[in-house]
This record gives sequence, structure tokens and C-alpha cells, in this order.
Amino acid sequence: MTVNLLDYDLEGLAVFCEGLGEKRYRAVQLFRWIHQKGATQFDAMTDLAKSLRQKLPLAARLTGPVLLSQHISADGTIKWLFDMGGGDAIETVFIPEEDRGTLCISSQAGCAVGCRFCSTGHQGFSRNLSTAEILGQLWFAEHFLRRHLQQSERVISNIVMMGMGEPLQNYAALLPALRVMLDDHGYGLSRRRLTVSTSGVVPMMDRLALDCPVALAVSLHAPSDSLRDSLVPLNKKYPLLELLDACTRYLAHAPRDFITFEYCMLDGVNDQLSHAQALVQLLRQRTKQGLTCKFNLIPFNPFPASGLLCSKPAQVQAFAKVLSDAGIVTTVRKTRGDDIDAACGQLAGDVQDRTGVGQRMFRQRRLMTAPAAEAAMSVPGA
Ligand code: SAH
Ligand code: SF4
Repeated sequence: MTVNLLDYDLEGLAVFCEGLGEKRYRAVQLFRWIHQKGATQFDAMTDLAKSLRQKLPLAARLTGPVLLSQHISADGTIKWLFDMGGGDAIETVFIPEEDRGTLCISSQAGCAVGCRFCSTGHQGFSRNLSTAEILGQLWFAEHFLRRHLQQSERVISNIVMMGMGEPLQNYAALLPALRVMLDDHGYGLSRRRLTVSTSGVVPMMDRLALDCPVALAVSLHAPSDSLRDSLVPLNKKYPLLELLDACTRYLAHAPRDFITFEYCMLDGVNDQLSHAQALVQLLRQRTKQGLTCKFNLIPFNPFPASGLLCSKPAQVQAFAKVLSDAGIVTTVRKTRGDDIDAACGQLAGDVQDRTGVGQRMFRQRRLMTAPAAEAAMSVPGA
């Protein structure tokens, strides 16, 4: 069985080259062909030593994800659905803005955390993605976009690990992928422009701080344990105060001097002014201890099985004002690509829940969305 070279960071590729009896530095050339030039064939790697070029097809392959469909929103947002085999599909979203291009990447097929307001969470968990499957989304998107936009320069300047899945519950595969994103011979992203978003896997936040500190977003969603327990079940394992301690520790290593708290605005559930005031209280003492943060309020993107509604715009504004008045920088996330269901939390993909937890809800969801999904799938266009 050949190995997929998308599974390796540069060090891994160097070890692989050594295994073939080649010099380590050959790995740099190979790595650049793969990630900077988007080569898909070994034959195309013209300046590679001939001996290596001959050995490669026997030992390795370069396999990106299989595209099932592509949707382009009126605002330029692009959503890709990729087949992961075994009945699983995941989604990747590109969000163009004036001064940047952001790619939102998935880390798992489904998610085991099971947040109440999240469409991925409702599907349950199928499996972790491999490094090649995480990185393959970027590899595909960057080189597709260069061709699509007829650009020779880099198109993706920012990456957010905010697609399907909890990245810190797939740490072993995530870490090499992050390294390739940051590597100057790879995608050369700045640590400040690479964001891992987590629902609060405390021990892995500490690991990330040491292994590969990048920008961190923490999905907070509630000012108290009782409410957060009901929205983000992982809170029962890592309650709020432990989570905030981990955030403070992370900042000692982080490339940015603040943590971004994401807060999904749910009508009548966590969006009252009393909740905003409780957040201010909760964070006041912490700020003195060095926890600086920003808030990103995400208007809830509804899906039928959730039984939840999005907060009224005026409520979101009033909530934001309480935080801002207390000196906390607060932004409200613009919804992008909602005409193609590419907004936060709408990334449903299609996963085979192997835990059984999400199975019932998943079936309900499929029944409700099958016609829409079929209609969407009939307009592929790469
Ligand atoms: N598992 C990670 C990253 C993926 S979710 C995490 O939870 O942080 C990325 C963001 O989308 C999280 O902040 C999550 O809370 C938010 N989100 C999930 N479902 C949503 C929905 N239906 N509407 C708006 N935001 C949602
Ligand atoms: Fe998983 Fe994040 Fe969705 Fe929660 S919000 S279920 S952690 S993907």
C-alpha cells in the first residue's frame, strides 16, 4: 500500500525520503511541489532528482478529497462537499473578503460533542479525518481557486478550523496539518491568521499551546455552568472556570494577545441582557488575572431539528452593547453564504453516526432535508 504524501508535514516527508534512500533535503523540493505548486503528478516535478521521481509512484500517491458538489453563493462564498468514503461527506467553505480569503476547514466526519444548536452535532460522530483529509481540503481549495480566479499568488490568507468536528478531539491528525499550513515551504500562513476553534477540550488546549500555538477561538455560548451544560455537553467534563483558566494559560503562548469567545445567539435561551451582565461579571476578575478576550456574537443559523430560533437583531445589538460598555471588544459575525447553507453550524455534510447517539436525529434531518440536498447536488460545477 502506498502512502498519501498529503499525510506528512515537512519532517515526516524528510523521514519518508530517507526511507527511500534519498537525502532529507529532497523533501523540501517535493513538499514545495505538492503544496506551493499543487502538483498532482510526480512526472510534473521536473527538477526532482530522477532517481526519486522513479521511486515515488511505487511508494507514494497524492490523493486529494473526492468532490461531490460545489455551490457558489451570490456573495462569492464557495462551499464544497467532499466524499470521505463509507457514506461520510464533509464540507469546506471559502469566504472571500476585500482584504483576505478565509477557508473554513472540517476536522471530523460529524462530531461527538453534540451541541444543541449545531447541525453537525445533531448528526453524531462518524470518524476522525486523517491529516491528508484535513490538509486535502486546503490543497484542493487553494489550487482550485488559483485556477478559478486566474491568480498565481496565494488566494487563501486565513484558515479557521470551524467546519465540521471538534479539532481538539482529533489532535494527532490536526497537528501535522497545522504545521504544513504554517510552514514557509508549505502554505506559509501566519500563526495569527490560523485559528483553531474549540468547544473547550481543556487538556488539548494546553498541548496546542506548547506544540503549535495559533490563534484560539473558544465557543463559550453561556455565562453559567448550568446553561452551558445544556448547550455544550462537554462543559460537564470541563466546566467554565477550568476552561477560563486554560484560556489564561494559553495566552502565555498565543500569537495574539486575546482569546476570541464565540457566542451563538439563541432566542430566549442565552441572549438576555442578564446573560450579558453575567458574562461581564464572570470575566471581570479573570481580566485582572490576564485573560484578555474579544467576543464574536454569531447569530444562530437555524435548522429544523434544533427547535431553536435566532435572536432578534435588536437583541443581539443590545447584548453586544452590554459587553462593549464593559470594555469588551465585541463584534457580530456577518452571515455569509446563507443562500447555499454555508453559514456557521449549517455544515451538515452527511455522516454515518457510529455512536448511535445522533442516529435518530440524523434520520429526522435527512428526511427533512433530502429534497433540498438532492436539488443542491444536481448543480455541480467545478
Ligand atoms: N467544534 C468547534 C469548531 C466547529 S464549530 C467549536 O465548537 O468551536 C464552529 C463555530 O460554529 C462554533 O463557535 C459553533 O458554536 C458555531 N456554531 C455551531 N452551530 C451553529 C449554528 N447553528 N449557528 C451559528 N453558529 C453555530
Ligand atoms: Fe461539535 Fe463544534 Fe458543533 Fe459543538 S459546535 S457539536 S463542538 S462542531
